Amino acid sequence: MTLAPAYSPSDLAAISADFEAADPRAIVEWAVTTFGDGLSVGASFGGASGMAILHMVAALKPNVHVFVLDTDYLFEETHETMRRSIPALGLTNPNVYKSALTHEEQAAKYGSALWMRDPDLCCEIRKIQPNRVALEGKTAWVSGLRRDQSEGRADTPIVSWNEKFGVVKLNPLANWTEKQTWEYILANNIPYNPLLDQGYTSIGCYNCTVPGVQGRAGRWQGFEKDECGLHT
Ligand code: SF4
Repeated sequence: MTLAPAYSPSDLAAISADFEAADPRAIVEWAVTTFGDGLSVGASFGGASGMAILHMVAALKPNVHVFVLDTDYLFEETHETMRRSIPALGLTNPNVYKSALTHEEQAAKYGSALWMRDPDLCCEIRKIQPNRVALEGKTAWVSGLRRDQSEGRADTPIVSWNEKFGVVKLNPLANWTEKQTWEYILANNIPYNPLLDQGYTSIGCYNCTVPGVQGRAGRWQGFEKDECGLHT
């Protein structure tokens, strides 16, 4: 196991600045070399960026800890993408994390269709708490955020300390555009969620995702919300 060096937030800010012009694959290579088995990749099997990241990491460390948060409300196409892409990419350590509450237990405790009344609480129970479990014992977390995905993501750092989960957070694709991401996906024949060819541009839970709306505006329609809280 590679132990993570103790980087201060200012160390990480300097590293992040150095990576501003770097190819995402170089950033991923640094992450794999630096954090070793402490590295974990969060994957939704929804968006294109996450699939590109999985491909980059798998090429260097097929046994990397990959985790998906199964909220119980994922599209069947998302499950199918996971089943198809894990072996296709050669990943050997996929892990599924679920809420401590089943759908029925959540409904009994908080009422039915919590996502229609308090989506922040629903995301806390079904995403943020399981994400915390997924990252237990890990030192670094890679995700596929891009700055062009929303206004709120425009300042996404490439490398930073994530206080909420107590890990170094890496967003190697922060500087890539949607076009660059798709060029990479298609050039490398990477599997992706078929809903992306059916008008969905951001895919999460089926309760809170609509097609035909660009980017994260297609999530949590009717609420002042375009983040689940994992990345904020
Ligand atoms: S995206 Fe919607 S259904 Fe999924 S956890 Fe968040 S509020 Fe609940």
